[in-house]
Amino acid sequence: MESSSWETPGLEHQLTADHWQPIPSHPHPSYLWAPERRQVLECTMISPLLVLAIGTCLTNSLVPEKEKDPKYWRDQAQQTLKNALKLQNLNTNVAKNVIMFLGDGMGVSTVTAARILKGQLHHSPGEETRLEMDKFPYVALSKTYNTNAQVPDSAGTATAYLCGVKANEGTVGVSAATQRTQCNTTQGNEVTSILRWAKDAGKSVGIVTTTRVNHATPSAAYAHSADRDWYSDNEMPPEALSQGCKDIAYQLMHNIKDIEVIMGGGRKYMFPKNRTDVEYDMDEKARGTRLDGLNLIDIWKSFKPRHKHSHYIWNRTELLALDPHMVDYLLGLFEPGDMQYELNRNNVTDPSLSEMVKTAIKILNKNPKGFFLLVEGGRIDHGHHEGKAKQALHEAVEMDRAIEQAGTMTSVEDTLTVVTADHSHVFTFGGYTPRGNSIFGLAPMVSDTDKKPFTAILYGNGPGYKVVGGERENVSMVDYAHNNYQAQSAVPLRHETHGGEDVAVFAKGPMAHLLHGVHEQNYIPHVMAYAACIGANRDHCASASSSGSPSPGPLPLLLALLPLGILF
Ligand SMILES: [Zn+2]
Repeated sequence: MESSSWETPGLEHQLTADHWQPIPSHPHPSYLWAPERRQVLECTMISPLLVLAIGTCLTNSLVPEKEKDPKYWRDQAQQTLKNALKLQNLNTNVAKNVIMFLGDGMGVSTVTAARILKGQLHHSPGEETRLEMDKFPYVALSKTYNTNAQVPDSAGTATAYLCGVKANEGTVGVSAATQRTQCNTTQGNEVTSILRWAKDAGKSVGIVTTTRVNHATPSAAYAHSADRDWYSDNEMPPEALSQGCKDIAYQLMHNIKDIEVIMGGGRKYMFPKNRTDVEYDMDEKARGTRLDGLNLIDIWKSFKPRHKHSHYIWNRTELLALDPHMVDYLLGLFEPGDMQYELNRNNVTDPSLSEMVKTAIKILNKNPKGFFLLVEGGRIDHGHHEGKAKQALHEAVEMDRAIEQAGTMTSVEDTLTVVTADHSHVFTFGGYTPRGNSIFGLAPMVSDTDKKPFTAILYGNGPGYKVVGGERENVSMVDYAHNNYQAQSAVPLRHETHGGEDVAVFAKGPMAHLLHGVHEQNYIPHVMAYAACIGANRDHCASASSSGSPSPGPLPLLLALLPLGILF
């Protein structure tokens, strides 16, 4: 019953080259309708003629009342204009703090869909909602290709936006002279990251991610590896081990010994092979992996000064019990591998990304010289790879909450915040859906070719490709609003792929205006370092000292107080 009238020819959409006439399929904004299946039922009860007859009336009912008044749109635009005019006074302060939010795989289509989801979670139509990142005054585009790849991966891109140098796919913290898997091409080709530059300048530094802490994105902040997959020595080929290359977990503990905050997953890579996991004692896959028998947690502790407070924790309860004022170093590893999806999160053992960010900033904020914090919403990417758009979008919404959390704890006067993605995905949504349509809902018409309904969200490729009896699956027969529903794709692949188009860069705070156009991805850390007066390009900071500052000590404060325009 549910699907039969979808196949009625009269319900086909009417689309010509230059004119689209929507046929409303339900009499109320569908965001008021839960679950989406009811839309399908409702559609089946309306005859095509009736739909056409009352079409205009129904379309109109989708429009929020206030939006029918032109004054609403004019006032809204005038306020936006007023805000834009204020931006002519550039914020050229020195960025005491820099926070980088990296949504792994968060292409522009994901940002838009996450915005609609966030609004719908608040019972709004969704399209008009503003994400926290939407409120940032400066937006640029980032060209994400790797030196050897048109469509990039997260390792080569992380090297670009953290180290300022484009690199080959699959490699982290090394230049394009290093070939993936070739250990002997590593030495001499290491490139350092903005996390290191910040550390060298006396700032506190932190890494917070929802993936394992030795995953591609965070690892470019501290490691130099010819292969992103060398999580521990267990994953390395004998040749690489014999040539002296070190695994990424080992490098996390040894390369920069005083990273103040490290939070995410990845416990199993820290412990000797077959060591039972503290949380999943029956799960063999959760056991320690290290062939060298090292306990990297003990090593991490041993590197911390005796008089400092260092804490290793593995669950949310411990995290919330911490007094950040009494913590100098924090290592939180909440899962053996990647952390759970936000939708599947255990509220006792797993903190949310925003909870981790809150604690991280409280710890890092204590340094009078400021901090650099890398925050990764790392599993947006994983949701997409699995074709599970609902998981991916909830991850993106949670990262937006973390951005809001950071915004309440910092000021644009002294903190540069950058939000971007490493790459996109072949994720899209369309189908002339009406205003307020559930982002996980159906397009308002059936295909004019196979006469079956389709969801607004679709993938170019991936595991959601389904043929039933020689035909495309009829989605109205399945629960397409389920957390783990895999949206249909055009090409069958076990793992959906990254996308190659540009991604957005959102920025606020000191020097945010330098992110202003279409940029190569490796430009981003150069801007962050320039704004913070760290790294190589500090002439503009030095000129301040020749203008009267007696010592390098008070320089940052002086720079923050002076109108920098006269110094350039
Ligand atoms: Zn990926």
